Amino acid sequence: EFKRAMWAGQANILVAVRLRPQLKHDRDRGEIVKVLGNKVVVVLDPGNQKDVVGKMRNRSREKRYAFDYVFSPSDDQRTVYTHTTKFLVHGILQGFNATVFAYGCTGAGKTYTMLGTPDEPGIMGLTLEDLFEHIAAAHARVPALVQYRVTVSFLEVYNENIRDLLRSDPEEDTYLDLREDPVRGPVVADLSEVVASNAEEVMRLLRRGNKNRSQEATAANAVSSRSHAVLQVSVEQTEVTPDTVSVLKTGKLSMIDLAGSERAAVTQNRGLRLLEGANINRSLLALGNCINALGEKANRGAFVPYRDSKLTRLLKDSLGGNCRTVMIANISMSVLSFEETVNTLKYANRAK
Ligand code: ADP
Ligand code: MG
Repeated sequence: EFKRAMWAGQANILVAVRLRPQLKHDRDRGEIVKVLGNKVVVVLDPGNQKDVVGKMRNRSREKRYAFDYVFSPSDDQRTVYTHTTKFLVHGILQGFNATVFAYGCTGAGKTYTMLGTPDEPGIMGLTLEDLFEHIAAAHARVPALVQYRVTVSFLEVYNENIRDLLRSDPEEDTYLDLREDPVRGPVVADLSEVVASNAEEVMRLLRRGNKNRSQEATAANAVSSRSHAVLQVSVEQTEVTPDTVSVLKTGKLSMIDLAGSERAAVTQNRGLRLLEGANINRSLLALGNCINALGEKANRGAFVPYRDSKLTRLLKDSLGGNCRTVMIANISMSVLSFEETVNTLKYANRAK
């Protein structure tokens, strides 16, 4: 019942917005975003920047958007986790797949939301903690009969190529093939799969892996992340009796720190960067199109264009069907990112 209430009659997708706090290094002090309650976010068109920095609030220039949740700058990591991802853990242990992703432009707080810091772990760490706690509790109830095996993989999709972020030799940088297995679904050939037994150990791996991500300096930001980072956590349950070992169920949670959604024009992309930009938009666009198709309740059985990008091919068994999806759209209140904020909210709104 709790779970039902959380999903509030929606299709299997929950869309939340997170407004990050202003930071010392923010280049402007404007505030064009306000949170009203826990569902509505208001964006004021800066038009002429002076209007915003001053007191003028022209109501006709407000844009209001409603989502399942809107988190304000004072909401901490655990609050965001509790209202978005926590109740997916139960489904994973029941053998369902699910996906959580952070969307938004560079600097909006995606990596903070998903990975977080050692002191303030994000969705990835909090989910793993919860998962291992559930498993320990289950073991205490039925010792040894059902065994749980948790494996993690961490990859990036960069320029529509897949790279292993947990590869043991960082120098050995090869692109991996994505194959479609009729039984197992999408499979990345030769991807590292690490057996995990506690959350801290995985988080250390992820922090190291995150440093292997492709980063390029752009005009918009000194270090702009142009890759999609995908953490997949699989939980396999086997029943062990004196003479048999049988797999009962497997659930998989994909947690994704998407590439920055800023537009090519903003970053003055040229050459290679332009190509990267085009590919990033292709994956983001494809993801949006898939989620949109899945959300069309009137259109059951509608065509879902998974094949349009690497990212959506990879997530084919984790989006739609019985799978639940959580989208966290990250925004800042900066005047400079007005256009991106509106674009992010439009993308998120389309996903509802
Ligand atoms: P992105 O991954 O979207 O480019 P980051 O997650 O790196 O953005 O966030 C940009 C900066 O803002 C980082 O220094 C990060 O620590 C900080 N930040 C983002 N969200 C928050 C938050 N909710 N609370 C505190 N600091 C945050
Ligand atoms: Mg980032």
